Amino acid sequence: MTLRIGVVGGGQLARMMIAPAVEIGIDLRVLAEEAGMSAALAASAVGDYRDSATVLEFARDVDVITFDHEHVPQDVLADLVAAGVSVHPSPEALAVAQDKLVMRARLAELGMPQPEWAAVTTTQDLQDFLDAHGGSAVVKTPRGGYDGKGVRVVHAATEADDWFAALAEDARGGALLVEELVDFSRELAQQVARRPSGQMRAYPVVETVQRGGVCAEVIAPAPHAGARLIDVARQIGETIAEGLGVTGMLAVELFETTDERLLVNELAMRPHNSGHWSQDGAVTGQFEQHLRAVLDLPLGDPSPRAAWSVMVNILGGPADGGLEERFAAAMADHPEAKVHTYGKAPRPGRKVGHVTAAGPDLDDAVYQARAAASVFLG
Ligand code: ADP
Repeated sequence: MTLRIGVVGGGQLARMMIAPAVEIGIDLRVLAEEAGMSAALAASAVGDYRDSATVLEFARDVDVITFDHEHVPQDVLADLVAAGVSVHPSPEALAVAQDKLVMRARLAELGMPQPEWAAVTTTQDLQDFLDAHGGSAVVKTPRGGYDGKGVRVVHAATEADDWFAALAEDARGGALLVEELVDFSRELAQQVARRPSGQMRAYPVVETVQRGGVCAEVIAPAPHAGARLIDVARQIGETIAEGLGVTGMLAVELFETTDERLLVNELAMRPHNSGHWSQDGAVTGQFEQHLRAVLDLPLGDPSPRAAWSVMVNILGGPADGGLEERFAAAMADHPEAKVHTYGKAPRPGRKVGHVTAAGPDLDDAVYQARAAASVFLG
């Protein structure tokens, strides 16, 4: 009998699960927020993921429910579990990815290295943290942030007053997360796939380049990574996957500090932008791996196919449309590059696709990926 997966959320991550699902013969269905979204090709329902009845109806005849994003409310997840639906990752694991304060507390319990942090509820709390950390810090809203929204570097406690005011108006109350301003030399990401029955496979640690809080480029594996760094990153990923009982793909965003430590920045429990290189650059891409993992099927080999893979995001694009002509131009000029588009209308800074290139020479792969991506922007 054909296995059936239901993906809640109709964005590009759900879209990129479609091709591997077809390839391995899985029936994939998507609950999209609205018609015409990235994953519309497989959308079998359109509705609000915050509404229990909608999600329960969608889940009625699938074997497993998984996600394109982390925002499904816990009460909806609890209703799914109560109805006997198999949910991966589990609500308990997802709770850690949904709230950065919960995440920091759980990572501390697991003994994971992370920036110094505190939960602050008043300007005075924040001032005390700033005084103890050289006058600068990073303040984050614990929930709902993405691509750098909800992250602010502050040098004075009053710079977060608007967020404290918003907290005061929120019936749920709560606190802001404050972290030391980490002096990092670069950002890395470690991905691990884990099945409900426990099997894990780790991808090579990669370097991610962020611009304006948005991932711009990824190099796999991370250049200049010694055996120790590779080992520590993998251990961090596996400890978190196991410790939190993550099922499916886990991405651990890391800082490599100027004094050679690795600190955990953030977690994502789904395929992640830092793993798009693997679609074309690894034996088993992250989207196929996620499907295998949530169905508790044997995991594929995450090894790279080439010495270097580079992924460059297409951020924005021609305001006049014309994506098709640019696609043709990119194909003509860069036949070695693989272009992926998300079916989204270009807006300044919006992730509308990405390009991957792989090969034995890093400089050449970087050139191919950047040059092909820039065809869409020029
Ligand atoms: P998002 O949820 O938007 O992905 P992150 O917590 O990953 O937010 O932060 C976005 C970016 O802000 C990071 O990739 C990093 O460049 C920077 N950043 C986040 N936390 C810190 C920190 N404690 N110290 C220094 N830079 C940080």
